[in-house]
Amino acid sequence: LHQVQRAGNLDDPEVAALFDAGDPDRIFEDLRAIGHGSFGAVYFARNRESKESVAIKKMSFMGKQSMEKWQDILKEIRFLWDLHHPNIIEYKGCYLKEQTAWLVTEYCIGSASDILHVHKQSGLREPEISSICSGVLLALDHLHSLGRIHRDVKAGNILLSESGSVKLADFGSASLHCPAQSFVGTPYWMAPELILAMEEGHYDGKVDVWSLGITSIELAEGKPPYFSMNAMSALYHIPQNESPSLDPRGGRVWSPQFRHFVQTCLLKKPEERPTSKQLLTSHPFISGGSRASISPSQILLELISRTKSAVRELDDNLNCKKMKRILLTDD
Ligand code: ADP
Ligand code: MG
Repeated sequence: LHQVQRAGNLDDPEVAALFDAGDPDRIFEDLRAIGHGSFGAVYFARNRESKESVAIKKMSFMGKQSMEKWQDILKEIRFLWDLHHPNIIEYKGCYLKEQTAWLVTEYCIGSASDILHVHKQSGLREPEISSICSGVLLALDHLHSLGRIHRDVKAGNILLSESGSVKLADFGSASLHCPAQSFVGTPYWMAPELILAMEEGHYDGKVDVWSLGITSIELAEGKPPYFSMNAMSALYHIPQNESPSLDPRGGRVWSPQFRHFVQTCLLKKPEERPTSKQLLTSHPFISGGSRASISPSQILLELISRTKSAVRELDDNLNCKKMKRILLTDD
């Protein structure tokens, strides 16, 4: 006898156990849209009782391919629910209502990409990039030691908390197993071996190290390499060309440590590229040469306050919601 599979079906006790009981509309209040994704929208909200601020990612599994959407939602919850790490977004629960899953996590003030957007003219400063990369590497080292791969490391998936911590987020593309083989992620940030995996076999956590190298360029220069091309062309050029590097004609002066960090993250052969642990424990860009004795959270708190003043000063006509939300919890 076979069971009929249906999106939203909670007959399987393993699936039912992933969801919390109760009506999320009664548990949370003051919902305000703060982000958009492939699945729907992300909201700021408060827990009605505790008044705690949270983020809610509403993921609908209605309409076309509802079973695939449902499986993706279950995958993301299974990935997040048992992760506890200071640099990984904290999972707070998941609710089901009207063909939509409400994935609740701790609230952050915005992504590194949102912050970058505010400083479009100047880009981020080297100590800020070093602090962000340090936090991401702590998160990646934890994931990789569990045999997991994030597969979508980029500024848009790196969040900053009000207290200046880095929080890796968005586990919608992540793999619970290593090695992996599927083609997932965002083209411009994809490692060459991941792009070629369909033909040439498997890849491991080193794909996240490559994406972090691309993210460092993104944070320094505002966008990843090949961003002016369409995604298909980028996918062709990444495995075909020499590795990208920080633009020497960019008008910025970067330290040799930063240039080396980018270069080593972007070694095309994964066996030559360092692991997240090796970078964390022994790369001078990460151990803090450029940050002197200032802690990453102190540097990021200053970045946040610099960003908030920039947003306040922006002309209202030019202003967009994306930037305003950085001030959301300010009164
Ligand atoms: P997608 O899978 O569509 O990329 P994400 O989980 O990356 O979805 O969320 C999309 C955007 O929503 C993020 O880039 C960020 O701006 C915002 N966001 C997501 N989670 C949070 C959170 N916990 N706190 C604050 N903003 C968030
Ligand atoms: Mg994302």
